[in-house]
This record gives sequence, structure tokens and C-alpha cells, in this order.
Amino acid sequence: MASKRDYYEVLGVNKDANAEELKRAYKKLAIKYHPDKNPGDKEAEEKFKEAAEAYDVLSDEKKRAQYNQFGHDMPGGGAGFGGAGFSSFEDIFSSFGDIFGGFGFGGGAGGGRKGSHRAGPPRGNDLQVRITLSYKEILEGVTKKIKIKRYVPCTECNGKGGENIITCPNCNGTGTIRRVTQSFFQMVSESPCPRCGGTGEIVEKPCRHCGGEGRVQEEETISVKIPAGIAEGQYLNLRGEGNSGPRGGASGNLIVLISEKKDNFYTRDGTDIHCEINIPVHKLVLGGAQRVPTLDGGEVSVKIAAGTQPESILRLREQGFPPLNSKGPRGNLFVHIKTEIPSDLNSQEKRLYQELADIRKDKEERQEETWIRKVKNLFS
Ligand SMILES: [Zn+2]
Ligand SMILES: [Zn+2]
Repeated sequence: MASKRDYYEVLGVNKDANAEELKRAYKKLAIKYHPDKNPGDKEAEEKFKEAAEAYDVLSDEKKRAQYNQFGHDMPGGGAGFGGAGFSSFEDIFSSFGDIFGGFGFGGGAGGGRKGSHRAGPPRGNDLQVRITLSYKEILEGVTKKIKIKRYVPCTECNGKGGENIITCPNCNGTGTIRRVTQSFFQMVSESPCPRCGGTGEIVEKPCRHCGGEGRVQEEETISVKIPAGIAEGQYLNLRGEGNSGPRGGASGNLIVLISEKKDNFYTRDGTDIHCEINIPVHKLVLGGAQRVPTLDGGEVSVKIAAGTQPESILRLREQGFPPLNSKGPRGNLFVHIKTEIPSDLNSQEKRLYQELADIRKDKEERQEETWIRKVKNLFS
């Protein structure tokens, strides 16, 4: 191995530099020689590793003391990239993650490498539409036709924008303007070239139909397939169905937001649904069959057991919604039982109720007596 540079010299600090000074010096070097900024540059890579090693040793009090005494011959070999030291950039990032955090390098751990910006037509914008679905449509899934206004490639110039296309002299075809500011550390900012709009090209003979943009706005009707089981607040992302980019740029996406039409009878709870049904008193007393409407527009007959209490809940399996994008079982339909006391009795009905009351009189009086005594004893 070539003779190693002094760690203090590597970081460009004095022998008595404190932790803060070391950190600052290292940060500066790490940013300068960062592999993202110097792709394929072997020398920068070595400098980056050298700085990491120097910082690893000097930022650790114990290692620093040993280094001050023994130099690079320190016991244990110091940090080093040979044995148990760093073997890759990822190691360096993960051990100094806190330093890289907040510096636009993806918070350490080697993430966040950006690809270099290539000039070309920008991508079109995403569009958003909202559609409202009934419960029946959600149950079965549906194909909806929706009207949208969006940019489509111009047919006159085939999306090119015109003729005599030259490289933009303002940005030399890169599409971006770079600004470098030197303050505490070097900052590079990029913004789209205003002359060519970031495309890197200029159309000298623009198309008359689209004015050189290579796209025109049109109202179109498209079909959107909505899967069964979708819910309020969810959305579909239709790739490439948004605006076309200018001059042959890729299309944006169409985001379809889902709303549910409020239903008068059913209330949704995930894949389950709930409803309330009024059942006559005598049917709850004697039992019988009850028709219950279902989500699909049909109905089922439900058995009501004799002596069913109001406010009880019946569960009808698999009469709810299907789960979204899965073959699992449908949710339940919960029937909440209500009852109304009849107030429209004719004379015959009244007579029968009276007869019933007479028959039950003794039993009910006894029950009443027991109950009253219980309550009175409670308070005596
Ligand atoms: Zn330009
Ligand atoms: Zn055109």
C-alpha cells in the first residue's frame, strides 16, 4: 500500500480540532468527493474513502489517542478498508448516516442516487376525475364512460411541433440551466431552460395547428373499468391516460377518484353492510318468514324465530361486498330488527288484543308485583 497520508492532513484540520470541527471538515470532503457527484471517478472514490477512514479514527476518542501516539502503526490497525473496516460505500453511508442525513443523499445508507438529467420533451401532467358509484355498481364492478379534456398529440405535425428542429443554444441541448453557488459548501441547483422549456430543442418552423407544442387539447370519452369492491376515497391510476407531453413527451396518468352514492337503505362498513327492517309485533312473537332486499336488487327470505326481540341483529352471510382484488368471500349483511306498535286497530283486532290481555292478566300482574317489590326493597 502506498504511504498513508496523515489523518489530520486528510481532513485539513489542526491536531487539536474538536468534534464539531472534525465533523464539519469531513462533511465538506464527503460532499465534494461523493460518488453521486463523481460517477466513475476513481480518484474521487479514493479521496472519499480516505476521508471516511480519517474521520472514523479521529472522531473516536480512544482511536484518536492511539493514533496520536502510534500514527498509522497503531495497535489493531485503526480503521482501514482491509479487514473489518469499510468495504463499500454502503458501509460508509450506514456508519455515518447521521452526517449525510439532511444533505440530500437519501439520509445515508447509500440511497437516493439520482440519474443524470437528460434533455427531452417533458412528461405531460396527471389529470384527475371523480366518479360516483352506486352500491350496486360497487357490488358488481362496472365500466364507466367518462368525458375528459386532455392534451393529445397533434395529428398535423405528428406531435413533433413543426419543422427545422435545432438544438437550443441557451442550454446546449441539456434542457437545464445549472447554477453553482459557493457558500459553506458547494450547492448546485438546476432549473429548466426557459428558452426551450426544458426540451433542449427549438422548433424554427412551428406547426400552425398546435403552435409548435406538438399537442392539442381535446374532449374525449374514455371507458374506465372499475373493479368490484372498490370504496369511497380509493382511486385508480390509469397510466398514460393523462395529458400528452409537449412535442412527443410521455403522457401523464389519469387518476380516477372514487365516491359512493349515499344509499337510503344500506350503510356500508368495509365489505359488510347494515340495514334496518320493521317487523310486525305478532311476527316477532309467533315467528315467521321475512323478505329482505339484497344489494344486487333481488331479495332473500329470512326465518324469524318465535320470540325474537326488537333491536336484535340477524347476519346474512356473503350478502355484503366482495373484497377488492381478491377472491375471498363477500362480506355480511346485518339486518337490524325494529318493530312498530300498531295504532290502526279495527274493532275485531282490538277485541283480540283485549282477549289476549285478559288471558295474560294474572301472570302479568304477578310479574308486576314481583318487580315492584324488588325495586322498593332496593331503596328501603
Ligand atoms: Zn434550452
Ligand atoms: Zn402540430
